[in-house]
Amino acid sequence: MGYKTSRITNHSIKNNRATSVLMIYTGGTLGMVYDSKSKSLVPFNFNEILTNVPELHRVEFELTILTLDKPIDSSNMTPTNWVEIARIVYDNFEEFDAFVILHGTDTMAYTASALSFLLENLSKPVILTGAQLPIGIARTDARENLITALEIASAKINGRPVVPEVAIYFNSYLLRGNRAKKKESSQFNAFRSENYPNLAEVGVTIDYNFPFIRPYRTDLPLQLHETLDDNVMILKLFPGIQQNLIRNIFNTSGLKGVVLETYGAGNAPSESWFLDELKHAIDKGIIIFNVSQCDGGRVLQGTYQTSRKLQEIGVVSGSDITTEAAITKMMYLFGKEGSHERVRFNLEKDICGEMSV
Ligand code: ASP
Repeated sequence: MGYKTSRITNHSIKNNRATSVLMIYTGGTLGMVYDSKSKSLVPFNFNEILTNVPELHRVEFELTILTLDKPIDSSNMTPTNWVEIARIVYDNFEEFDAFVILHGTDTMAYTASALSFLLENLSKPVILTGAQLPIGIARTDARENLITALEIASAKINGRPVVPEVAIYFNSYLLRGNRAKKKESSQFNAFRSENYPNLAEVGVTIDYNFPFIRPYRTDLPLQLHETLDDNVMILKLFPGIQQNLIRNIFNTSGLKGVVLETYGAGNAPSESWFLDELKHAIDKGIIIFNVSQCDGGRVLQGTYQTSRKLQEIGVVSGSDITTEAAITKMMYLFGKEGSHERVRFNLEKDICGEMSV
């Protein structure tokens, strides 16, 4: 996959309607069909999408489909891929009114978070969706997810897009992309956003939660960021975690930032060896970002003695950010900001709706 990737499928379903949507197929379960010869699921040729989703003939917008050279299972996604997807949106921004990204569910929340940072001042919908069952299977959820994601992306009121932000549509819910988490691998309701209201709920009608959708603004031009620094990691605490493990992680050469997944409201062991290791890492320039292992609620450093100590040694509070948004925010800020102080400062700020401050 890459920006060099040619459009192997690029046909338009034209029905003379005003709104134009670019659908970008990156891979994942959605785009698979059962191959009776090999008796397995194989990537589906998107040229044949009209055979599998004939409903697309009836949609009320113009649809262009862009298929990446090598669709991937989203477990193989990398920051390079995120920049490439962001670049496709950026390069096609003037031509299309909205974007739908078909993506595997496994890392969709990471991609959505990364895109929300990479596409600064976004004023058009970028809706990610996927499926738990391949599009070629009778009971698939792919068709509903795909059609509704397209409908949401193309929705306008008074000529303005209804959802001018990066969002995930899945199984009747539209969620802010950088607030969503994959919560379920077998039921259809794969995603949830514990700390931010749903942007829309879909039944017979699509009910938008207008006060919680980012406002439409066109005063600032879309800015593409293309540098993500992946010298970061996620360290999840558990009772019994060993000092040598923590020390070895912080001794990793080039390491700049760690998302520390703490307990509850941001609590961690108060044993001196643990705090000394963290303090030593902070003193040598590693930024530690405190994110809770709980999906709901927020980090409040200082409520308990076990988190006040973290505050005192200079751990940065992640408030109610998800781990997915936290790690991509760190990559983005280390890639963008010139100084350690600016990264620390901006980590605590809400950049594009990813955390409550
Ligand atoms: N492993 C697949 C992926 O993330 C799962 C899915 O698409 O749901 O690409």
